Amino acid sequence: MQLSDLQAITHEDLLITRLGQRTVDTPLQDLLGNRQESVHYVTETDRVLVDDTLGIAKNRVTHTADLPAFNPGGPRAKLFFDPSEVTAAIVTCGGLCPGLNNVIRALVLHLKHAYGCRDVLGFKNGYQGLADGSDPVRLTPDLVRDIHNRGGTILGTSRGNQDPATMIDTLVRHKVDMLFVVGGDGTLRGAARLAAEANRRGLPIAVVGVPKTIDNDIPWIDHSFGFQTAYARAAESITAAHVEASSGVNGIGLVKLMGRHSGFIAAHATLVAQGVDFTLIPEVPFTLDGLLAGVRKKLADQGHAVVVVAEGAGQNLLPASTATDPSGNRKLGDVGAFLRGALTDGLSDLPFSLRYIDPGYAIRSVPANAFDAVYCTRLAQAATHAAMAGFTSMMVGSRRGRFINMPIKLATATSNHVDPYGDLWMAVLETTGQPLTL
Ligand code: ATP
Ligand code: MG
Repeated sequence: MQLSDLQAITHEDLLITRLGQRTVDTPLQDLLGNRQESVHYVTETDRVLVDDTLGIAKNRVTHTADLPAFNPGGPRAKLFFDPSEVTAAIVTCGGLCPGLNNVIRALVLHLKHAYGCRDVLGFKNGYQGLADGSDPVRLTPDLVRDIHNRGGTILGTSRGNQDPATMIDTLVRHKVDMLFVVGGDGTLRGAARLAAEANRRGLPIAVVGVPKTIDNDIPWIDHSFGFQTAYARAAESITAAHVEASSGVNGIGLVKLMGRHSGFIAAHATLVAQGVDFTLIPEVPFTLDGLLAGVRKKLADQGHAVVVVAEGAGQNLLPASTATDPSGNRKLGDVGAFLRGALTDGLSDLPFSLRYIDPGYAIRSVPANAFDAVYCTRLAQAATHAAMAGFTSMMVGSRRGRFINMPIKLATATSNHVDPYGDLWMAVLETTGQPLTL
């Protein structure tokens, strides 16, 4: 069975692990009212349907109760933890992404102000800071007041594997009841191992993920935070390449964007900036001959050509690499440099000028835009509600506009890709005018 398959997903795949009974009244009553009169609390029977396509729904069930559905995000009237006794901790891991500081700020403020949490600790430099014995910082509302205006993460980040047992020892030493992990697929796998280790030792520690992936490759959720900021910034580089290309004689603009396995940034930035002639993504193979012929034709027809390539595209055209980063992720070949060389060689019979732009780090490091700032805040609030309820080994996200709690196991079983037969890619083809296959 493929866990990405809507038809195959079951109730069990969607169950959230709980630390225990919820018996503590929420302190949010001043904000949200008491149980009887408030519609804001999520009850046991609330569910968010996995699919909203009537045809699929009709095919698989006779009763609506049989439809697979997510545990909804949001506040519970009864909590597992007594917030006044809680020590929470935050860690950020993996690559940079716009919005990390917004998530940290919103977690701290929501934990301290809304729930009246005792302490919030920040472990530095990703999982490394949980393993190396260094002291965490105490995160206060004062300390995080202005951080949402800055890119990066005030906690720092790292790659590289750490021992879950050592990290749990650290959490126990600092009396941490709930750990918020902000990171990508690798980070979430690490979080699941932490939750498993805590469970093995019978420790009631909630581990809740806020998924961070600039590539938007986490499955089942609408999008990940920072993604919109990233493609908005990426589109500026495409526009610059377009201006350069259309101002030269046979000008060629080549822009390399992020997207190791998923071409969402390249696809969306293409739709924002327009003026792109060829968008190359990992999900859709292309040949060098096809691309060269296409560029040649564009130069003849309109005097310039703009090519956008996601970093994971065309890897089959490059020498295979076995190098890995400290977390064990395979290092990709540099398709941008490769295409620059290949275009230069392949068009050497023409007069042309080529401008190559690689805005990678400039995109990762910017502050979140308005949309992502809202999303980060709401994700952090959903994560806090979930942890207080005693949910663990899960992550938050939005699906069709509703906040959900999702088992990490499901989130890491597959990844999100641009569907070459889906309507997003169709929109890209309609916008660029590039052929279905190059
Ligand atoms: P990015 O979006 O930048 O790739 P990521 O979270 O996937 O983010 P990684 O560097 O792959 O980034 O992983 C971050 C942290 O999670 C590292 O400390 C890494 O050791 C840990 N990690 C990665 N994969 C696993 C795994 N399978 N089990 C446990 N920990 C893992
Ligand atoms: Mg990753």
